[in-house]
Amino acid sequence: MTMPYAYDAVVVGSGPNGLAAAIALARAGCSVLVCEANATIGGGTRSAELTLPGFLHDVCSAVHPLAAGSPFFKALPLERFGLEWIQPEIPLAHPLDDGSAACLHRDVNFTAEQLHGDSSAYRRLMKPLARNWEKLANEFLQPMLHWPRHPLALARFGIPALCPATLLSKILFKHEPARALFGGIAAHSFLPLESIASSAFGLVLGMAGHAVGWPIPRGGSQAIANALANYLRELGGKIEINHRAENLNDLPKSRAVLLDVSVWEFLRIAREQLPTAYRRRLESFRHGPGIFKIDYALSKPIPWKAEACRRAGTVHLGGTMDEMAAAERDVACGRIPERPFTLVAQQSLFDETRAPRGQHTLWAYCHVPFDCDTDMSDRIESQIERFAPGFRDCILARHKMGAADLEKSNPNLAGGDINGGAANLMQLIARPILSPAPYGTPLRGVYLCSSSTPPGGGVHGMCGYYAARLALREIFGKRWKAI
Ligand SMILES: Cc1cc2nc3c(=O)[nH]c(=O)nc-3n(C[C@H](O)[C@H](O)[C@H](O)COP(=O)(O)OP(=O)(O)OC[C@H]3O[C@@H](n4cnc5c(N)ncnc54)[C@H](O)[C@@H]3O)c2cc1C
Repeated sequence: MTMPYAYDAVVVGSGPNGLAAAIALARAGCSVLVCEANATIGGGTRSAELTLPGFLHDVCSAVHPLAAGSPFFKALPLERFGLEWIQPEIPLAHPLDDGSAACLHRDVNFTAEQLHGDSSAYRRLMKPLARNWEKLANEFLQPMLHWPRHPLALARFGIPALCPATLLSKILFKHEPARALFGGIAAHSFLPLESIASSAFGLVLGMAGHAVGWPIPRGGSQAIANALANYLRELGGKIEINHRAENLNDLPKSRAVLLDVSVWEFLRIAREQLPTAYRRRLESFRHGPGIFKIDYALSKPIPWKAEACRRAGTVHLGGTMDEMAAAERDVACGRIPERPFTLVAQQSLFDETRAPRGQHTLWAYCHVPFDCDTDMSDRIESQIERFAPGFRDCILARHKMGAADLEKSNPNLAGGDINGGAANLMQLIARPILSPAPYGTPLRGVYLCSSSTPPGGGVHGMCGYYAARLALREIFGKRWKAI
């Protein structure tokens, strides 16, 4: 006698991709259970009082151009479940040692005007891309192997995107502010800035900044997870916390299993069931570098030298393009940079729910080699002090997370790699294997849906959406109309 199915689908992991997959399945009429290892839902989108009472910190993601611009999230009624985007006055500032700062503003023309001597070049690069955000987002937020629906817009993006960021910035821009601004955004790739396709991240996140902003959710990134989870519950889905999947066979019986877990966690929980050839392909998938993160409780706003930084949601601390390129090269070679590329977000300047009145939070992390256990606090604080003398005097408390702490908080963050595997060109195309539908596995009804699948890292839910679409077609015989 065959056992009846407890659910149509079980989703392992409640990160943005797991919840997106669960919602896509539930909207198509499936009964869904989400099993989450942690005591709190959300994976990379969680917030907590990490330092002092009343200071609400984003444990992982903080700034959300990809969530705000996600074709799937935009199709969901998340505002009804409390999600509210706040747009900082300036999305991004990049201070330089002379006390000035290059800024990305919402308006392309205004951004260009501030980049004296490079205004026309910036406008020529970004204007057509930002105008075509909707078309382009649909193209690059899916597996790379597909027939493009907007080939012309894609070609206009793809040619510069394939360039190394150092080369593209030197060809296009004559002055340091524009080069550094672009280099800092491109460094989100975690790739050496001389490597092929490192410009892609600079272009995607730059155009997103103009098209949808770099917003923060009121109440912390947990608000994204809560909105997704509450919508899922309204659709009839269930979520079980403190349930770490140790083996695929131990999950409640279902027709489909979608795994919001990294390639390495997948290998851990399904190793014996996987055919050798497929397992070997997964084993050759490479990690990206890691991060070291610090959250601060501050007695007052950061005393930035450049006034624009005091009005910016995100600030990139890396100095010139050459300096950032050297730091990222060190990281890629396994060396610890003396002046690491450091990203900070100042949510409490724009969202009063984050800290007691008059006091502030700061979210900061820097890039380090994979699985690095060095305490980077001094180097991070020196980078901040360099552009904001007196910063150390504002610190009330710190909370640090190195590779081991990150992995303890979420098995997907092994070695401090926050993107589910390196985002080099090879692994953007074959993520985690070369296939037009890389979410499928040799195990019938088992799908991967984490950031180890296309389009990769970041909070956008598109990995979950596309994996669910494949499961709906293969297992439930349902067609899903394109979003
Ligand atoms: C410090 C940090 C800063 C970041 N900043 C940003 C940012 O500002 N903007 C942005 O867009 N992105 C950012 N990211 C990246 C973003 O958070 C991730 O790319 C995104 O969360 C990936 O979503 P996911 O659903 O694939 O996986 P995750 O969010 O990692 O969720 C996976 C979930 O699965 C659970 N899980 C894993 N294994 C098991 C198991 N065996 N059984 C049960 N549950 C399991 C985990 O506990 C977790 O809850 C950041 C990440 C980190 C760590």
